[in-house]
Amino acid sequence: MFASLAAWLRRRQIAFSENAAIGPHLHFKIGGTVSLLVTCTSAAQLAAVMKKVIAGKLPYLVIGGGSNIAFGDGLTRIVVLQAQAAAAGSASPMRLLDSRSLEVESGARNQPFLSWCASHGAGGLEFLSGIPGTLGGAAAVNAGAFGRSMADVLLGADIIDAQGTVRAVDSGHFGFNYRDSRFKFGKDTLLSLRLKFAPASEAAISRKTRENLEYRLARHPSYRLASAGCFFKNPLLRGVKTSAGKIIEECGLKNMTAGGLAVAAEHGNFLLNRGNASFADLQRLEKEIQSAVAARTGIVLEREVIYVSPDGKKY
Ligand SMILES: Cc1cc2nc3c(=O)[nH]c(=O)nc-3n(C[C@H](O)[C@H](O)[C@H](O)COP(=O)(O)OP(=O)(O)OC[C@H]3O[C@@H](n4cnc5c(N)ncnc54)[C@H](O)[C@@H]3O)c2cc1C
Repeated sequence: MFASLAAWLRRRQIAFSENAAIGPHLHFKIGGTVSLLVTCTSAAQLAAVMKKVIAGKLPYLVIGGGSNIAFGDGLTRIVVLQAQAAAAGSASPMRLLDSRSLEVESGARNQPFLSWCASHGAGGLEFLSGIPGTLGGAAAVNAGAFGRSMADVLLGADIIDAQGTVRAVDSGHFGFNYRDSRFKFGKDTLLSLRLKFAPASEAAISRKTRENLEYRLARHPSYRLASAGCFFKNPLLRGVKTSAGKIIEECGLKNMTAGGLAVAAEHGNFLLNRGNASFADLQRLEKEIQSAVAARTGIVLEREVIYVSPDGKKY
């Protein structure tokens, strides 16, 4: 099923592996194998591979940094395209459009992007500091922190849709919601994003980027530990967004475990993979936390992290 794509990739010297372990590419380190894992190092390459995949009617899924997603334990029969930014020495994945807007490729990583923003005077995007992953992943899940999210800064994007057509869309097309957009569970792929910014000095942007990172490092479990960040969405209780981590802690569930997984001692909404957790462990811990919280408080916690089914569907 994937042999002709593999031959095409080989001819073009595009990096890929067959029957690839996906876990090592994910922050949670949870997942078995996927039929084909392709690393795309630019938006142009991502679009070219995607066209070939769609023309061949192959099942596919795009990931960025893999920091908000977990795969099933067995073989997932799909092509996974991993969006990365241009390698050093190639064309820059970001550029200024005018004095208040910029364009960035979806595979660019947040932290190097913020360094570029500082040196180009593009302020107001520092909320991304410390959020792992890529700009494409951040836009797809409407990532945010410090009271701001991608929905506040996104102007539009170039996408390749599920029919293989490249087109420009505006921010309305995203259907943004709290940690959600149509791309989170959809089939369309983000190639590049147009973002607005507020002009600021390099020193001010660098300072804010550093402060935000330090704030998070002081309050979250070590970023060296395998997790996907906040596992559950913060629920809306009587109209007020309430910390899921606090609810979990108040229910006495800190340090709860299932197989190789544990609720972090430092933060009730971080589930940590202690090295050998399976997807089955993750599903079990999720259900146990949800049941315990519902029994004690009546609150239904909703998962923020994305799962991938054995046939490659996100849910
Ligand atoms: C330690 C830690 C801290 C975190 N803190 C935060 C936080 O403060 N705030 C927050 O919102 N999140 C946080 N997260 C979660 C995660 O980092 C963010 O959601 C991040 O923006 C996901 O980006 P990614 O590139 O890793 O996406 P991935 O996990 O690779 O993918 C996420 C989703 O985006 C889709 N996607 C990725 N790239 C594309 C593309 N090019 N086109 C179309 N769809 C695409 C995927 O298919 C998937 O549906 C944290 C995670 C960790 C591990």
